[in-house]
Amino acid sequence: MLAVTNTLSRAKEPLRPRTPGTVAMYTCGPTVYRYAHIGNLRTFLLADLLRRALEAGGVTVRQVQNITDVGHMVDEQFDRGEDRMLVSARLEDKSPAEIAAHYTEAFLADAAAFNLQPAADYPRASDYVPQMQELVAKLLERGHAYEVEGNVYFAVESFPGYGRLSGNTLERLRAGHRQEEPDPRKRHHADFALWKAAGPGRLVKWPSPWGDGYPGWHIECSAMSLATLGEHIDVHTGGEDNVFPHHEDEIAQSEAVVGHQVVSTWVHGRHLLTEDFKMSKSRGNFLSLRELTERGRSPLAARLLFLQARYRSPLNFTWDAVAGAERTLERLRARMAAWSRDPGDGPAKGSPGAGGDAAGYEARFWAAVHDDLDTPAALSVLHELEGDDSLTPAARFAAVASLDRFLGLDLAAEVGRELPAGAEALITERERARAARDFAAADQLRDRLAAMGVEVTDTRTGTSWRLHP
Ligand code: AMP
Ligand code: ZN
Repeated sequence: MLAVTNTLSRAKEPLRPRTPGTVAMYTCGPTVYRYAHIGNLRTFLLADLLRRALEAGGVTVRQVQNITDVGHMVDEQFDRGEDRMLVSARLEDKSPAEIAAHYTEAFLADAAAFNLQPAADYPRASDYVPQMQELVAKLLERGHAYEVEGNVYFAVESFPGYGRLSGNTLERLRAGHRQEEPDPRKRHHADFALWKAAGPGRLVKWPSPWGDGYPGWHIECSAMSLATLGEHIDVHTGGEDNVFPHHEDEIAQSEAVVGHQVVSTWVHGRHLLTEDFKMSKSRGNFLSLRELTERGRSPLAARLLFLQARYRSPLNFTWDAVAGAERTLERLRARMAAWSRDPGDGPAKGSPGAGGDAAGYEARFWAAVHDDLDTPAALSVLHELEGDDSLTPAARFAAVASLDRFLGLDLAAEVGRELPAGAEALITERERARAARDFAAADQLRDRLAAMGVEVTDTRTGTSWRLHP
């Protein structure tokens, strides 16, 4: 059974769905005012891996990932407190709706290129404003919120569990707060906006009982998760920066409305760093999937690079590391293609120390995955299996193809691609030349094959080839 580290309990726990066999999963999605960066994709990959691990065990997963197309206010990029969507609209001379549509489409294309399985639903925040208003009204009714000049704030002191997820209890927040200027509109400095009054000139706004305005970012996720998955959600994922305040506030809002715990397990991924800093637009160390491919690296090489670290460790992105991952990916694909061409005969001989056959490797692979998604350990089992020449090519092919359903690396991508006419004869000729130790001739034949788009590699067991993409 899959065990994951629950941010709420700070412990590794088996993921036991409330309804056996079915998992409801909510994944904090992108703010669509710019291209996603590969750090965002690392966080979305965590959700994809959880889902693939559960599905491989026969569990049905209903995954919902929201699209934030309104209301996510500044935290780093735009320090004038403007809505990111609106700043991008102004800078790009487009309407906010055009910006959102463009970057939503780009996100879905990136997700597909990164082999993230599509979610069952991608609710857009702007489609759920009535549900958000309903939650705000309930919170006001029950004394968890108050209105000041068209703004509605959540009163953190009204929710005793505040701080359980992040450790930022009111006590601690008070201690850290002494230096700051108090906001005269708030009763407690940690109170946060559920609804914001629209200032003059604001384009995107909705009428409400509190005047024209727009929702806060946190209430969006409460509304969309309750509306799409209901009052019991098994897993909620996000990046480490979402723990506070976003998810802490989501818990307070949702639970103050429904009166019980909503999310059982919170899973947070550590950040992707570049030069040891969090990847973000403001630092200029922001890399999109498009830029990565423009620099000659494939999306799935980045996926493999991310798999080489556990989600709970920060990961530093370097061009050398992604180039290394690319070479590994190419090698694995070439081997899969070679194994499929020559399946070998007879049953696998069995492999000492590894459970006797490929099934032993598969069991160890899944044990690593189930141990809090220990993907580096799972990959090292894959590499042992790859190098176990006592197994038939067919056995290795079948096992690797099955593990790839979790890894999502398209390892069979090279299988079935035909050699161009005449190449087969040149490969045989080159093998003969090598056997006769005529390396000059062999090198010349290698160049002729390369000119036809065929790359040959010499291994202990003979020559293998692959086609250039
Ligand atoms: P955003 O589009 O800014 O709302 O972010 C989408 C998701 O990416 C959130 O869950 C963030 O926690 C996550 N995220 C942001 N920056 C990084 C990073 N450098 N590494 C990993 N995840 C990140
Ligand atoms: Zn969210």
